[in-house]
Amino acid sequence: MLDLEKYSKIVVANWKMNGSFKFIDDFVEKLDLLENSDSSTCKVICPPFTYLDYFSNKLQNINYGAQECSKYHEGPYTGDISAEMLKDLNCHFCILGHSERRNFYNEKSSDVAKKSSNCINFDIHPIICVGENLEERKLNKTKDILKKQIDESIPKIANKKNTIIAYEPVWAIGTGLTPTLDEINQIHEYLKESTKYSEGFRIIYGGSVKSSNFKEIIELENVDGVLIGGASLNFEEFKKILEFTYSS
Ligand code: PEP
Repeated sequence: MLDLEKYSKIVVANWKMNGSFKFIDDFVEKLDLLENSDSSTCKVICPPFTYLDYFSNKLQNINYGAQECSKYHEGPYTGDISAEMLKDLNCHFCILGHSERRNFYNEKSSDVAKKSSNCINFDIHPIICVGENLEERKLNKTKDILKKQIDESIPKIANKKNTIIAYEPVWAIGTGLTPTLDEINQIHEYLKESTKYSEGFRIIYGGSVKSSNFKEIIELENVDGVLIGGASLNFEEFKKILEFTYSS
């Protein structure tokens, strides 16, 4: 398992169901600064499963992650990919419990806990996503929702060295909206200090992070990194974001 403690910040790109061989070739060419490795920021790219191998052969000094894995180990589970298979692809991270999985595939927190546990057993860091929806926010239930998701999604074998938590307010994903900086900082503090199962964990923020707000978010005291969707697929945007990490 990678030693996360040597990194001051973590930047994760979630490509979702986007990309192609041509897109990856262009991405590698245009982001030539990715070859530069003198940074204390851990950079992780999570393309669709099918491109993990191709991508990892192109860029050696970047980490790779998957966007999902099976709760099972092996057997008659058509379409599933196990944590062990991800390990074979040299994958060190896996996004789990993303709100798109929870909402479109009815994924339960108990499934997220099983998948996370499988990942940890194969030396893969799960990046466990939690976040409230707009209605829950309006009803002032954010902390209750997060506590429940944390309690049910974090497996017993998780600890601050093997697991990362991503705070992703559902209403901020892909919408251009974000909580205030103060709100982000306070929620991260709550997750680090007040919830039994995530005490001391690295907490990254996700939801409409782009080059224009990246710096102020990642520099917040309780923010250990960011999870970026849309902006990570835009060469210009992602290049600007990575340039900040090299200059800091
Ligand atoms: C995400 O889907 O994890 C995400 C953070 O998306 P976006 O950056 O596009 O809001």
